[in-house]
Amino acid sequence: MIFKLLVFGIVVFIVYTLFFKASRGKVEQPKRKEKKKKVDGDTMIECAKCSVFISETEAIIKDGKFFCSKECAGLK
Ligand SMILES: [Zn+2]
Repeated sequence: MIFKLLVFGIVVFIVYTLFFKASRGKVEQPKRKEKKKKVDGDTMIECAKCSVFISETEAIIKDGKFFCSKECAGLK
């Protein structure tokens, strides 16, 4: 009798674990949208010449200073 109860308990545990994992997987799907947060992380920098603010990724660095365009950096 005890053995049968143990087997029944294990079966219930396995079914419960499978169901729990399946329902968890459905909840985790919408997390893909979180990748967009990196765009908001851009730091705004002031151009050393014309004081225009541009994002760090678009900035041109010359002699340790940030410029908004090649014209301001003196590259053109
Ligand atoms: Zn500039």
